[in-house]
Parts: sequence; C-alpha cells; structure tokens
Amino acid sequence: MTAPPPDLGPPLRPTWVEIDPAAIAANVRAVRAVTAPVPVWAVVKADGYGHGAVTAARAALEGGAEGLAVALVEEGEELRAAGVDARLLLLSEPPPGAEARVVAAGIEPTAYSAAAVEAMARAVAGRGGPGAVGGPWPLHLKVDTGMHRVGAAPGAAPGLARLVADRPELRLASVWTHMAVADEPDSGFTAEQADRFAAACAAVEAAGVPVPVRHAANSAAALAHPATRLDLVRVGIAAYGIAPSPALAGAVDLVPALRLVSRVAHVKVVAAGEAISYGQRYRVAAPTTVATVPVGYADGVRRALGAAGGVVLVGGRRCPIAGTVTMDQITVDCGPRAAVRPGDEVVLIGRQGVAEVTAEEWAERLGTIGYEVTCGIGARVPRRVRPRSATPGEPGP
Ligand SMILES: *Cc1c(COP(=O)(O)O)cnc(C)c1O
Repeated sequence: MTAPPPDLGPPLRPTWVEIDPAAIAANVRAVRAVTAPVPVWAVVKADGYGHGAVTAARAALEGGAEGLAVALVEEGEELRAAGVDARLLLLSEPPPGAEARVVAAGIEPTAYSAAAVEAMARAVAGRGGPGAVGGPWPLHLKVDTGMHRVGAAPGAAPGLARLVADRPELRLASVWTHMAVADEPDSGFTAEQADRFAAACAAVEAAGVPVPVRHAANSAAALAHPATRLDLVRVGIAAYGIAPSPALAGAVDLVPALRLVSRVAHVKVVAAGEAISYGQRYRVAAPTTVATVPVGYADGVRRALGAAGGVVLVGGRRCPIAGTVTMDQITVDCGPRAAVRPGDEVVLIGRQGVAEVTAEEWAERLGTIGYEVTCGIGARVPRRVRPRSATPGEPGP
C-alpha cells in the first residue's frame, strides 16, 4: 500500500510518481493483440510493481485483462476493498490460517500440498455470510517444472488433483507452472519446462481429473515462446511498459506507465576543485551549477546510481547525478552557467520533452532488472494518477 499517512494534508515535498493508466491499458491491449485468442491475466502484485495496485488493476481490466493475479492475500483484499470484482488468482499457497480470509475476499488460491488443499476445503465448508452461496471453490494446482521455488513435484500432481476432485467444497480450476528463463529467448530450458508441464497435465488427466485450464507464461514467455501461451498468460512487467529483459526489448510496442518526478529545491555554483556529496566522489574541474533535488535512496533512488553514471532530466537535458545519492536528496550537475531555478521540474524516470530515462536504463546501470527499479520506489513517494485524456505515455501536465 502506498497510501500516505492519514490526515496530514497534501504532501509538501514536491516529489511524486505519476502513473498513466492509459499506458497500462494500452500495454495490455498490445500484449493481447500478440497472444490472441489466448486471454491475458494481469499480475498486480507488489502494489502493481510500484504503480499502485488498484490503479493498475482497473487499467489492466480496461485494457481487456480477463483476470488478475496477486502474491499476497492482503493484496487481494486491498483490491476487493476498492471494489475490484474481477477473478483474482493468488500465486502461492495462502499462509496457514489465512484460508478464511481467502474465502471472504473471493480469492482463488493456488495449492501444491495436501495440507493446503485440506485447509482450503475446511475453510470453504465453514464459510458463512454472503459467500456461503455458490458452488465448489476454484483452486489452482501449481506444478514445479524446474524453477524450484514453489509448486508440487510433477509426480505428486495427479494425487493432489485427485484430492481436490474428491472434495465437494473444491474444484480444480487450473493446473499451472512458472518459467525460470523465459527472458533468455535462446535458452532451451523453457521448452524443457513446457514438456515437463505437458506431461504433468497428461498424468493428472490419466488419473481421471480433467484439467480445464493450463497456464505457464509470464510476460517473457508470452512474447518470446508462443508455445507456452496455452489457455492464458500471466502478464506483469509488460503491462507496465517495461521489457522483461534487454533481449526482449521491442518484442511488442510498450509505453512506460510511470514517471518519477521532483523539483529543484536549491541551486548553487560549485567552484573548480570542489567535490560534491558524501565521500567526495564527484570533483569538478571547472565551476558548475549544482541543483539539489529532494529525493534519495529512502525513496528508491539507489545509492549506487551516482557512481554508476545515472542521469536525471532537467530542462529537457540529461544531467549527471553529482556524487553519492543520499537518503533524502540528490545533487545534480547541471553544467556551467545553467539556467536552472528552484521549482524546475526534474524527471528521474520518464520523459521530459524529447529526452527520456527509462527504468531499463536504471536497471542496466545498477546490474538489476526494471522490475526491481519500479518496485523499489518507496511508499514515501505519493502516487498521482494521471487524468484520463491524452496520448498514453505523453508527459502529463
Ligand atoms: C510475477 C509473476 C508473473 C508475472 O511475471 P512478469 O515477468 O512480470 O510478466 C507470472 N507468474 C508468476 C508465478 C509470477 O510470480
């Protein structure tokens, strides 16, 4: 949750994230155009990869997503509290004891152990209130085909599927798996996982349990491995307009949905020979104009970004982060005699005029992936949702 603390008035610090729901909707449409007729379910875990879960969910549904997926029961509850009534897949087993809340929120859980299947059956049997009407509860059986994070061993899948089928409170809604290297298009292991998955599904059916829906693909697999699309694809990162990996940049036209923006708080000229910020790692050979911007590593601007060559946009120009990123502020080298003033807009991620800094650019500098960049933007930064109007991806007002 990124909600600001209650009743403290509007944020005073001019640092914010701007979310463009039209971009998310357009990205889901773009992926659907590639995967059609296979439906897209949008993954909105981790606060919609930092974009705001409710904003992301609504935009993805508007773009034609047929369901949503979350990592935590609480994430599902947040969506329900906001009135999102789409189908909601929980990507892991509920923590023991959470089953009644799964039922109360109308969440469709994943399971990969007999204990989780039985706990869900008990929770459904004991349900009361408005949820008490309705048939067997949909449960999704996850098979581990090589990622080795969570999932049932393929050999255990038929027995678990039988357990679900034998429980009148439950029905097997899907069998699914998750790919480990789909973002490396040249790896043969995705095909290997797909083969193992097909065999596991066949074994479930041979045990007498029909498999109504199969799914395996994340964004990378959906785009780069058509054979893994099966009956639905679970798309996260692409919905936010970020390529799953450099190898997949340009696989489909995506529009970044997030801008990280601030304003210059303080300007000074630093003399030749002086150094800027902690550790004096950025020493200037000639006098230069330095702008201080109120955003720092507590907001998700990683401390290493200065040394890694990170830039921000000021006045439509790429200007280097001058030295070490501090907890609450960065210093920016705007160059000699730069016409920069307190209040000027600074873009850390996103477009300003024709210039652009992407989450992928940060990721490359920091040795990580775009996912970690947007998920890392702290809850201290308010999310502003861009009014629905103009072209997706155009900087807002
Ligand atoms: C996060 C996640 C996804 C979405 O992955 P992207 O690479 O963001 O598309 C799909 N399936 C599972 C199980 C996940 O955990």
